Amino acid sequence: MRFYPQQAMKGSMKKILILTSGGDAPGMNPAIRAAVRSAIHQGVQVYASHYGYQGLIDQKIERLYYSSVANCIQLGGTILKTDRCLAFYEKEQRRRCLDFLDSEGIEGLIVIGGDGSFRGASTLQSEGGPAVIGIPATIDNDISGTEYTIGFDTARNTALEAIDRVRDTASSHNRDFLVEVMGRNAGFLAVDVGLAGGAEFILTPEFNLPISELASKVNDTQRKKLSSIIVVAESDQPGRSLQIAKELNQLTNKTYRVCILGHMQRGGTPSALDRKIATLMGAYAVNALIDGSNNQMITRNFGRLSLANFPNPEKPSRRFDNQELLDINSLISR
Ligand code: ADP
Repeated sequence: MRFYPQQAMKGSMKKILILTSGGDAPGMNPAIRAAVRSAIHQGVQVYASHYGYQGLIDQKIERLYYSSVANCIQLGGTILKTDRCLAFYEKEQRRRCLDFLDSEGIEGLIVIGGDGSFRGASTLQSEGGPAVIGIPATIDNDISGTEYTIGFDTARNTALEAIDRVRDTASSHNRDFLVEVMGRNAGFLAVDVGLAGGAEFILTPEFNLPISELASKVNDTQRKKLSSIIVVAESDQPGRSLQIAKELNQLTNKTYRVCILGHMQRGGTPSALDRKIATLMGAYAVNALIDGSNNQMITRNFGRLSLANFPNPEKPSRRFDNQELLDINSLISR
């Protein structure tokens, strides 16, 4: 797969569409910017669908130019807007979208989002839609087949900054805190934030330590801790740290304060790493379409970009390795 735009040979593709879908992630804008610039540079017209698949349902697309993506590399969120579009689950609605895309002459589609957005794109493609390439973007980093998704680095830095602040007050008052982070069904965010933030324990959806066991560990007199931080991944129950705190309070006779970071982890200016990877992925996606690739997503494994099939919709999303988490928890709780 050739990579740099200046090496690209012009293919037959003349018009592509780009959209962001599902949950937003910092770094979507650098990816949009790079894709738009790379496409125009190679003589390909680029259009945008706003609000993810909703723009297709509304049959409204907009041509993008270099100026459309000026000064957006440093912005969080997505300048194309995003949404969860229920109508797109209906075959009849997708058929209307296909007719519309056909009438507009769209030959390629770049979808920036999570595995749900990829399922939508792949379904559309299998029903006769344009060639599709996915760019993985979610702060959860839970898409199977890639070690990295855009937005993850910014989110972990944002959560880390928050933990550092919690630590200041925890240490000044000799207090114990549970800090709840996002991550859906995967513990990637919790593990990185917990390790980098000096947490005593990390509870993730993959590794559900019984609260009684956690209580006996935090009560271990050998540890002589005056304050501590436990990182809890929200899993599919945002706010679950409140219940954990209640149970810990009863079992340990200590008061655990709770800090739920919530949506602040999704916003903010993208980090250098997210901007860099998003920029490379955006350009790579355009070249993949021009080269005739289809129904694939861009992956980053061992530091290298590549193309891979979309995740199997029948299989669960990527999870943190259980044994590794056990090892990490025994390491940090000493
Ligand atoms: P994410 O991409 O962040 O995982 P979602 O799972 O909410 O987010 O998916 C985003 C959107 O993708 C949905 O709102 C819907 O419009 C579309 N989508 C997801 N799964 C399908 C599917 N099986 N068929 C058609 N469209 C889908």
